[in-house]
Amino acid sequence: MLTDSALSADERAAIDTVPRGLFIQGRWRTTAGTLPVFDPATGALLCEVADASPDDGLAALDAACAAQAEWAATAPRERSDLLMRVHRALLADTDRLALIATLEMGKPLAEARGEIAYAAEFFRWFAEEAVRLDGGYMPAPTGGSRFLVTRQPVGPSLLITPWNFPVAMGARKIAPALAAGCTCVVKPAEQTPLSMLALARVLADEGVPAGVVNVVTTADPAAVMTPLILDDRSRKLSFTGSTAVGKQLLAQCAHTVMRTSMELGGNAPLLVFDDADLDEAVEGALAAKMRNIGQACTAANRILVQRGVAEVFARRLAERMAALPMGRGTEPGVVVGPLIDAEAVAKVRRLVDDARARGATALIGATAADGPGTFYPATVLVDVPDDAELCRTEIFGPVAAIGVFDTEDEAVRRANDTPYGLVSYVFTENLRRGLRVCEALETGMVGLNQGVVSNPAAPFGGVKESGLGREGGPTGIDEFLETKYIGVRL
Ligand code: NAD
Repeated sequence: MLTDSALSADERAAIDTVPRGLFIQGRWRTTAGTLPVFDPATGALLCEVADASPDDGLAALDAACAAQAEWAATAPRERSDLLMRVHRALLADTDRLALIATLEMGKPLAEARGEIAYAAEFFRWFAEEAVRLDGGYMPAPTGGSRFLVTRQPVGPSLLITPWNFPVAMGARKIAPALAAGCTCVVKPAEQTPLSMLALARVLADEGVPAGVVNVVTTADPAAVMTPLILDDRSRKLSFTGSTAVGKQLLAQCAHTVMRTSMELGGNAPLLVFDDADLDEAVEGALAAKMRNIGQACTAANRILVQRGVAEVFARRLAERMAALPMGRGTEPGVVVGPLIDAEAVAKVRRLVDDARARGATALIGATAADGPGTFYPATVLVDVPDDAELCRTEIFGPVAAIGVFDTEDEAVRRANDTPYGLVSYVFTENLRRGLRVCEALETGMVGLNQGVVSNPAAPFGGVKESGLGREGGPTGIDEFLETKYIGVRL
């Protein structure tokens, strides 16, 4: 491990702005133990933050519960104005927040800036939604009485986020929770706590009342979060992370029949038909594959190309990917940053070796250099057979795995042959085929002739083992609201 002397003065200054404690009841608390945070590009220790105990977790839930009634009673316009101030504050603070995200997570600075803009947009979107909560008043079909339907905040919410979008995944949950009138306990991933702590400071500075947002960082998420999930004061779990952990948490939520939103893993197919605009398809595949160095739930995991254009598509994608500079995310022009840790590199190595052993050929990449830093080069594999392990599991790295298909039916059947169903991508110039295939794909989202689907104004989420519920879009706030029906006898 390197020391923090590997940081420049600007980088050290940005890290030093981040509070290191737990954020509970509007105060920063220290803990006996600490959680170290590393720069994956160098292995350097960035800093150490508080490591919550189960008692700290309960204190955070106590704070969220104590603040719930008053927060729910605030005027929607007041909550809206606050969220709008947070939106502006995040945009104004983009450079610092992006640098912090890049240092702890590894993504290129340009992408980190994009993530801050994306995160800020959730606060604007939900500021606008906070004042549009609807209800209804209607006559009962039998006459006489009336149905009054109103919507109320679900209550204290637990928000658990992954490391790959350390700011945006928090924003996507905190903004709708606050808009709906819910208080929350947020638990960021242990690899990337700094972005969430920095976000908590911004929220506090903009006037979020004590106890409304509480943040606990911990090296032992199960020990701290299990008692909170089993506690009947918690009314909602919104989780983004792996399908394996999501399934465990769903089982725990059964204990109190707790409301859940589950944004889980993906295995996105990207289909290129021979009538596609190939320039667009190559650029779309590049975006769908290389965003976040391939470490996105939306990453194109299996690229299936119709036989007539397969060779030219693969060659052109390989040319584009080979030209992407690899390095530390803070270096100008870098596109391929490090993977999150050594385990991630070992997994990608194993998946690529397995695919090659089963007959795939590497056009570029496929050999990872030893440290420092946890890098894996942009890699293009062709002739990838469906039984390769990387077709069944999330690669989570910069590896484009290309297979060939002949017919539309075959493409759809193979695309759907997975327990996951988050997103898929389709490239074709034939409108009828495009819509037909989009409807047949078993995913919660489809990109038709585009490689990026994430948008705060659109409903994001998956089907099958990719999750439950939708974040963002007009229905995003519903995840934090209960519908109440009042029968009125006139
Ligand atoms: P992970 O499941 O290992 O961890 C996610 C979060 O859960 C972390 O905060 C972790 O500390 C916490 N956690 C782990 N075990 C826990 C337990 N027993 N109790 C409570 N909390 C626990 O996932 P990860 O490696 O951080 O993130 C990558 C995964 O997230 C990928 O599978 C990716 O596809 C998925 N993801 C999904 C979406 C989406 O919107 N569908 C978005 C981003 C990432």
